[in-house]
Amino acid sequence: MTRRVSIFGATGSIGCSTIDLIERDPDGFEVVALTGGRNVDLLARQAKALGAEVAVTAHEECLADLREALSGTGIEVAAGEAALTDAARRPADWVMSAIVGAAGLPPGLAALEQGATLALANKESLVTAGPLILGTARDHGATVLPVDSEHSAVFQALVGEDMAAVERVIITASGGAFRDWPIDKLASATLEEASSHPNWDMGQRITIDSASMFNKALELIETREFFGVRPDQIEVIVHPQSLIHALVGFNDGALMAHVGPPDMRHAIGYALNWPERKPLPVERLDLARIGQLEFRAPEDARYPALRLAREVMEAGGMAGAVFNAAKETALDGFIAHRLGFMDMAGVVEGVLTELSGDTGLMSAAFTLDNVRAADHMARIRAEEIISGAKTPKRSATWT
Ligand code: NAD
Ligand code: MG
Repeated sequence: MTRRVSIFGATGSIGCSTIDLIERDPDGFEVVALTGGRNVDLLARQAKALGAEVAVTAHEECLADLREALSGTGIEVAAGEAALTDAARRPADWVMSAIVGAAGLPPGLAALEQGATLALANKESLVTAGPLILGTARDHGATVLPVDSEHSAVFQALVGEDMAAVERVIITASGGAFRDWPIDKLASATLEEASSHPNWDMGQRITIDSASMFNKALELIETREFFGVRPDQIEVIVHPQSLIHALVGFNDGALMAHVGPPDMRHAIGYALNWPERKPLPVERLDLARIGQLEFRAPEDARYPALRLAREVMEAGGMAGAVFNAAKETALDGFIAHRLGFMDMAGVVEGVLTELSGDTGLMSAAFTLDNVRAADHMARIRAEEIISGAKTPKRSATWT
């Protein structure tokens, strides 16, 4: 049976891996929408190769180039935020959410509203608006499947299990680019140094977030939202080889681990073929050659983002949206050489501390408008702190 699929963020790392799998089964899929950013040439090539119905760029100023690149093909073109959400409303069976950042939320919600199965690589959707995403899926009989490797691993370890028997969930972290650096050298880490990952080949933003562990911080919150476990049941362990992606601990002491090569096509393919398992073109691990698996506890001083994530989970409400937006703005600041590597956590903590005092904002209902308002306020505050207009108020405990 042919399935209708759309890919949001088709030109990125996850998007290209998704297309790689789809192209291996040309009769299995009909491609509805593909979206990208400024990389119009790649988007146009993908749309032609897959015979997409519509190609959408996030940027209005790129529309003319996209139209020209696809002229005479019969493929529709569109641009802008509203066009992305419109594309997500086109009927599709399976939708990949692989835009990076909070911009991935509105198209994901629109896909769920039309009942599609949403393969969620965009962890920011769950971090900023977990109850909204899962509630929308419930209301429309839609399914959300995790694509983040750790969450796909937990999901697979839970097949056939009773959540009541789960004691803990352990997600692994490679430790990122700086796991072996002296801590006092981290403040001077450069953009180039932070942009290379020891194990995974990913987009630049998530690669830097892996070095700072803001990525793992988002994933802690994502775990809580997706699986409904308490924060004290979730652990992070540094596992430099990235072969075990997560473990689930049960009440009889058993730990079920998911082991596989660091290749996102596994988690993407699992979501693409779910509830079946089908052959995937990933490496088969040779355990004798690997020999040993290594684990260490994450150090608090190296990875302040993990403590901040725990404070966000404790606070609940809009804290996730504030945290993510402050983090995205701080990351922009680091990429633009306006902030040092270790300053990012200070900016995020400053924004969390300030906005936590706004109880109306923090306890607002989970609607798209409220999530956007929290996101917007956090970005303004973060920018003020970065530009020096405001000194961050620091507190050891944020409630
Ligand atoms: P990427 O930077 O390689 O690609 C991002 C995609 O989103 C591109 O198509 C880009 O054009 C598009 N995009 C960027 N900003 C946009 C905006 N404002 N509006 C619309 N489109 C926009 O990112 P990636 O590494 O593929 O990651 C995508 C998502 O998947 C992220 O949420 C990331 O955290 C998550 N994820 C990625 C990996 C990985 O291995 N790359 C693993 C787990 C989770
Ligand atoms: Mg991950």
